[in-house]
Amino acid sequence: MVPLLDVNAQNHPLEAEFNAAFQRVFKSGQFIMGPDIAVLESELVALTGAKHALGISSGTDAILLALMALGIGPGDEVLVPTFTFFATAGCVSRTGATPVFLDADPVTFNLNVEDARSKITPHTKAIIPVHLFGQCADMDAVLALAKEHSLRVIEDSAQSLGAAYQGHGSGSLGDFGCYSFFPSKNLGGFGDGGALVCNDDTLADHARILRNHGSNPKYYHHFVGANFRLDSLQAAMLNVKLPHYAAYTSARQANAAYYLEHLPQIPGIVQADPTNPLTSDIPSDLSIILPYAAPGNTHIWNQFTLRVLHGKRDALRDLLQSQKIGCEIYYPVTMDQQKCFTDTPAASRRGCEVAHQLASEVLSIPIYPELTSTQKDEVIAAIASFLQK
Ligand SMILES: *Cc1c(COP(=O)(O)O)cnc(C)c1O
Repeated sequence: MVPLLDVNAQNHPLEAEFNAAFQRVFKSGQFIMGPDIAVLESELVALTGAKHALGISSGTDAILLALMALGIGPGDEVLVPTFTFFATAGCVSRTGATPVFLDADPVTFNLNVEDARSKITPHTKAIIPVHLFGQCADMDAVLALAKEHSLRVIEDSAQSLGAAYQGHGSGSLGDFGCYSFFPSKNLGGFGDGGALVCNDDTLADHARILRNHGSNPKYYHHFVGANFRLDSLQAAMLNVKLPHYAAYTSARQANAAYYLEHLPQIPGIVQADPTNPLTSDIPSDLSIILPYAAPGNTHIWNQFTLRVLHGKRDALRDLLQSQKIGCEIYYPVTMDQQKCFTDTPAASRRGCEVAHQLASEVLSIPIYPELTSTQKDEVIAAIASFLQK
C-alpha cells in the first residue's frame, strides 16, 4: 500500500515537540497574534528572501488580501492560468474583477506567457503566475511583460514555498507572494493557514492593516479589510516543522530523481522535452511523459505529475487504485471550463486548448518525503505492469 500523502508519517515523529508547543501557547493564553506569529514571519523572510512576511488565515485569503491591497476590483481584468487550483481564479472574482484565463505550457504545466501577452487589454491590471506542482513559472518573461504593460504581479506560491527561480525564492519576485500551509502542501499545518510576502514597505503595511479589518489604530477603520489572521497555535505547530523543512524538500527531490532515473527505463516512458512538447502527432509507442524541471528552477515537487497519453489516463488511475497506490488528477477541469465562470465574457475564456488536453492526461503519483524505497519500487512496478498489458 502506498498512499498519495501520509501526513502522520511526517508529524508523528515530532509528537513530543508539538505537545510542548501546544502547552506553551495553552499556558500563555495568547491565541491571537501571539509571539509564534512573529517567529514564523521572520523564518519566512529568511526562507523566501522577501523583505516582509505576514501570517495569513489561508493561502486563499493571502491571494484575496494581495488583490485587495493592490486595489483590484470591478472593471479590472486579472490574468490567471486556467490550469490551476480554483482559489487563484476564485479570489479574482471575489474582488469583483474579471479573471482572464491563460493557456498552459505543456512541458512545465505553468502559464503560457505569450498567451498572456495576447490577452492584455486596457483593463488588465495584474497577472497571477501560479508556480504549479512546486516549480516556478517563467518569471523573467512574466516580469518583463508586467513591466511593459504596468501590471501588478501576485505570485501564487501555494505549492512552491522554498522553490527558487534563478536563485530567487518563489514568491519574492512579484508585488506579493502567497503561500498555503494546507496539510497537502510541502509545509503542511494542522488545518488551514497561509502567508503573504512582499518587498515593498508601503504595500506590506497596507496588507498588515487590511489583515485586521483595516483598523489602524484599533477601532479606527480607514479601509474595509477582513479577518485574515493566522492563529498563534497554527504558527506554533508550523514553527516545530520549519527546522525540518529543508530535509523534507531534499527527500521529495530525491524521490523525484529516483522516479526520473527508473521510470524512463520502461519502454513507452520518456521525460518531457521542451524542444518537443508533444501536444499533437504523439507517436503511438509513447505512453507516458514524465515531468521536467526547467534549467534555473529549483523544483520542490509538491506533485510528481505524469502525462498519460492516448486516452489511457483513467485506466492507469484505476489500476493504481486497485493496487492501493494513491494517485490523483490535479486538475480534471480547467478554470475556463468551470460552471461558475460561464457568465464571464467569452473573450476571457478563449484559447485554452493545451490546458484542456493536460486536464485529460495528468495523473499525480506519490512523492511525499517519507516514501520508502520499497514503496517507490511498488509504484514503478505497477506502472510497468500497466504498460506491458
Ligand atoms: C492550495 C492552493 C491555494 C489555496 O490555499 P489554501 O490554503 O487551501 O486556501 C491556492 N492556490 C494554489 C495553486 C493552491 O495549490
